[in-house]
Amino acid sequence: MDSILIETEKLDRPQEECGVFGIYGHPQAAPLTYYGLVALQHRGQEAAGIATTDGTNMYSHKGLGLLTDVFKHGELEGLSGYAAIGHVRYSTAGANTLQNAQPITLNTHARNFAIGHNGNLVNAKWLRIRLEQEGSLFQTTTDTEVIAHLIAKAGAQDLTEAVASAVQQIQGGFSVVILGNDELIAARDPLGLRPMVLGQLGDAYVVASESCALDTIGAEFIRDIEPGEVICIDAQGLHASRFATRRARKMCTFEHVYFARPDSDVDGWNVHAVRKRLGGILAEQYPADGDIVIGVPDSSVSAAAGYAEASGLPLETGLIKNRYIARTFIQPSQELRDVGVRLKLNAVRSIVEGKRVVLIDDSIVRGTTSRRIVRLLRSAGAREVHVRISSPPYVSPCHYGIDTASEGQLIAANNTVQEICELIEADSLHFLTVDDLMAGFGFAKGDAVPFCNACFTRNYPTALIDQSLSSPHHELVHVGGATVGSL
Ligand code: AMP
Ligand code: SF4
Repeated sequence: MDSILIETEKLDRPQEECGVFGIYGHPQAAPLTYYGLVALQHRGQEAAGIATTDGTNMYSHKGLGLLTDVFKHGELEGLSGYAAIGHVRYSTAGANTLQNAQPITLNTHARNFAIGHNGNLVNAKWLRIRLEQEGSLFQTTTDTEVIAHLIAKAGAQDLTEAVASAVQQIQGGFSVVILGNDELIAARDPLGLRPMVLGQLGDAYVVASESCALDTIGAEFIRDIEPGEVICIDAQGLHASRFATRRARKMCTFEHVYFARPDSDVDGWNVHAVRKRLGGILAEQYPADGDIVIGVPDSSVSAAAGYAEASGLPLETGLIKNRYIARTFIQPSQELRDVGVRLKLNAVRSIVEGKRVVLIDDSIVRGTTSRRIVRLLRSAGAREVHVRISSPPYVSPCHYGIDTASEGQLIAANNTVQEICELIEADSLHFLTVDDLMAGFGFAKGDAVPFCNACFTRNYPTALIDQSLSSPHHELVHVGGATVGSL
C-alpha cells in the first residue's frame, strides 16, 4: 500500500469523520479528555481541540495535527475546570484550516458555549442560507457552526432547550457535545446514524463517540445514547430527554465495517466480533484456492482472522504497517514514489513469496489502494492474489459523515465486479452482499434491520435536502430571488 499516496487520495475525499468526547464533574477534566481523544484518534487526525469550564470561565485550545502535535507545549495545564469537551477532526477537502478545527466557541449576549460535532448534515447548506439571510455571520465552513448559530438564535433561557430546538432543525447524521458555563449536553441524531456512548467515572459522567474512549480513561460503560436523545449533565446530575420521536434506527454499518475501533462496542455489537463474523461469512460464501490469508492492517485484521478460522487456511502477517506516519507527513517527490509506496505498508517477502494469497480488505472505495496492495504483494513474490472484501460494493456516496466521494470516483458505482477485479489486477474478487453483511449482525434475509446501508444500496434513510442546491455561489444568487421556504 502506498501510504503517502493513499493519504493524499483520502484528502481528496470530502469527509466529516470525527470523534467527540465530553466529561462533567471531574477535577482532571482536560487531561482525561485528552486521553479519551487519543483513543479516538483513528476518527480524525487533521485537527484536535479541547474546551473546558470552571463554572465561571471557559478555556479552549485547538490546532492542526495529531493530539500530540496540538498539546505538546503544556497547553493542557491552561485548561482548568471540572467539565470539558474535545474533538478530533478528519478534514473536509480543502478546508483543513485552523478556523475549522473544533470545538467551536461562541459568545453571545445570552450565553457562552463550545460545541463539537461528528457527522454530516443533509440540510446544512439550506439552513446556512436561511441563517445568513437572518443576519448570522459565519467564520467557518463546517456544519458545526450551523448548529452553533441555531443554538445561539434559539433564544431559550435554558441551554438544553436551546440545543433541543437546534437539533430539531438539523437533519442527517450527528453526535454533538456542547459545553456551557456549568453543563455538558450531548445529542445524537434521530436515526442513530453516528454513534455515541455514555459512561461514568466515579461521580463524573462521560460521553464519547466510541466505547474504547471510556475504557481508556477507566470509565464504566452505562449505555449507548439513544437516537433522538439529548442528555444534559450539570450539578444536579444527569437528565435525559428526547428531541425527536422514536423511530426505526438506522445505524451506520460502515462504522462496523471500517471506521470504529475493533475494541469498541457500537450499539450493542462488538466491532471486532462483527468483523470476524463477516470474515467467516466471506470464507463460506466465497472460498478461494489459496495457501495463506492476509488482512490489510489495521481495519481488516479481524475479518482476516474470521476468514482464516472458517476456511482452515493459515492466517499470516504478510503486510506490515508503519504506524508512525502522520497524515501531515511530507509527500515524497515523483522520483521517490517507490519509497512512498512502501513507507506505510510493506509486504513480507518470506511470507508471501511463491504463495497463493487470499487478501482480505474491508472495503474498496476508489480502488486505487487495492490495486497498489495487489501490486505490492506480487512484487514481493506472491503467485496469486485473491481479494475478498468484507462488505458489499460501495456504490453511492455517504451523506451522513463517513465518506462523500462523488459517485464518479466510486469504482463499484461504475464497474462490474469482474471489471473491478481486472482494474485492481487481482486473480479473483468477491464482495459480501447486503444480506451477508446483515447476517454478520445476526439478521436473516428479509428481516427489518436497524441499519443504514445507503452506500451499498442507494437507499438513503433521509431526504438529501442540500443535494437539490447547487454550488454555493449559485445558491446565494438563487436565494436572492426566492424565499428560503421555496428552496
Ligand atoms: P481504495 O482501494 O482506494 O478504495 O481504498 C480502500 C481502502 O481504504 C481500504 O483498505 C479501506 O480500509 C480504506 N477506507 C475505506 N473507507 C475509508 C475512508 N472513509 N477513509 C479512509 N480510508 C478508507
Ligand atoms: Fe454509514 Fe454508508 Fe449509511 Fe454513510 S451511507 S451512514 S457510510 S452506512
